[in-house]
Amino acid sequence: MNKLHFLTAGLPLQTENKGYKAGLEILKNLNLDGLEVEFVHGVKMNESNQNAVKAFSQDENTLVTCHGPYYINLNSDEQEKIDASITRIIDTANMGKQIGAYSITFHAAFYMKKSPDDVYQTVYKSMEKICTALDEAGNKIWIRPETTGKGTQWGTLEEIVKLSKEFIQVLPCVDFAHIHARNNGLNNTYDEFSKMFEFMGKELGDDIFNNFHAHIAGIEYGLKGEKNHLIFEESDMNYKDLLKVFKEYNVKGAVVCESPNIETDTKILKDYYLSL
Ligand SMILES: [Zn+2]
Repeated sequence: MNKLHFLTAGLPLQTENKGYKAGLEILKNLNLDGLEVEFVHGVKMNESNQNAVKAFSQDENTLVTCHGPYYINLNSDEQEKIDASITRIIDTANMGKQIGAYSITFHAAFYMKKSPDDVYQTVYKSMEKICTALDEAGNKIWIRPETTGKGTQWGTLEEIVKLSKEFIQVLPCVDFAHIHARNNGLNNTYDEFSKMFEFMGKELGDDIFNNFHAHIAGIEYGLKGEKNHLIFEESDMNYKDLLKVFKEYNVKGAVVCESPNIETDTKILKDYYLSL
């Protein structure tokens, strides 16, 4: 990875209903660096869009990542639903490879009122199946469970880092807005961001900063964590100090902006980062 790429989550709003080709062109014209393809309602994309995204991903200046379906719970009470979740993650990984993506992310599980240790073991078993299947298929795409925004969802930074240490193909997708929301407003200062980076470097090695996948957005939250995404202007997300820490660690990889105004806040992130 040669630089920090700023990606929109989904096609820019300016695309309207003109489709992938037009949307990718708009990203280039805006001088943005890539796209996280949102397979949140299912891993489906027609062939001509696949080809358009693949061509876009092959440009050395742009990067593509994928977000897996929301309907994933590797800790469901029903084995059938766990199996379907595993399939959805593998499908996302295979589609990701097909369209030239370098990393996929997803929300891995809910606690379902079980102890975090038990849930960890359950998630671990599924991850083992996923990594084995991808290994056998020769698919080396990064598998990145995301840090989640609600206390009911498995996926603290500590849990995701721990899982990442156990699998060669697994690394975190660090959603800083989620971590901030989950902890009811904490994790939003320069010192707190620095501590997270320090922790990741210590646990996973500094090379993780050459190959990073992050989400940043404005966010609304309450006692139960994440409510919904906001634009930066209407939120308290301290993206400026966060980007200062990115700069300090010379982070390379993907920063995906999930604000509802899509390209506007992505541009704000990139411009601020370049001004540092
Ligand atoms: Zn997500």
